[in-house]
Amino acid sequence: MPKVGLGVYKIKSKNEDALIWALKNGYRHLDTAAFYHNEELIASAIKKSGVKRSDIFITTKVWSSDLGKKTKQAFETSLKKLQTDYIDLYLIHWPVAKYVESWRIMEGLYEEGKIRAIGVANFERNHLEEVLEHGTIIPAVNQIQTNPFLQQNKLHEYLVKHNIQHVAWGPFGQGNKQLFNHPALTEIADRHGKTTAQVMLRWSIQRDIAVIPKSINPERLRINMDIFDFRLSEEEMTRISALERNKRGFNDPNNKFFLW
Ligand code: NAD
Repeated sequence: MPKVGLGVYKIKSKNEDALIWALKNGYRHLDTAAFYHNEELIASAIKKSGVKRSDIFITTKVWSSDLGKKTKQAFETSLKKLQTDYIDLYLIHWPVAKYVESWRIMEGLYEEGKIRAIGVANFERNHLEEVLEHGTIIPAVNQIQTNPFLQQNKLHEYLVKHNIQHVAWGPFGQGNKQLFNHPALTEIADRHGKTTAQVMLRWSIQRDIAVIPKSINPERLRINMDIFDFRLSEEEMTRISALERNKRGFNDPNNKFFLW
């Protein structure tokens, strides 16, 4: 999968030009979900961009209310909305009830060739262990909230050990100003003639973590792709490691009150 993708959460029809711009200017990975209600928009933007479907990597996700038997139908609905006959990467959006049943169904769709890779999102070690125990395919990806304030070091180690690709959602802490303006990140950015956004993305890439930042602003879209002409030193990587707060928002996957 491309190391930098475009997260499209909250992108609406009125933002279609931004999607087209992104595709015309080099984005080749779009990260959507049934829950984002914009799969039809993604299909439309791809068509208008003139970029071939086969050159684009599409990730979409099955929503929590469609786990269990309903997963197959949910998948077919996503295919239809995305106007395609295969999905590059299909994820279980959250580890709520019946995710093992969904996983077995996704394995079947993978065997049929309708999905090129299957994975999960927001899974903690205990959820992954269950899938590894009951499934036959190892998840290709775990897409988890990761940024300099929430580095996921322990889970990252587990993913590396099991050859599961770590993908960072919310690589800017969902637009967290404390991150964009952090003095350590600002200093490192100035040193390289880059922005703090670019430093955050570069830090992920150097940890072998793929990123899916979201923006609808062409200048920011350009900036977020322009991270391959500099390298953070070990000292800079260590300095960013020290920003860890292990702080997540309301969306802790192991919180049993967390039901959406
Ligand atoms: P993010 O961390 O990508 O932050 C996005 C915000 O940062 C934007 O709204 C914009 O205001 C700002 N921004 C973007 N580029 C910038 C730049 N260069 N300079 C300054 N500001 C900039 O947050 P996100 O959208 O929540 O996460 C990214 C993607 O991850 C989503 O769009 C979605 O695809 C995915 N996601 C997945 C899950 C999941 O449960 N699997 C959850 C949330 C998000």
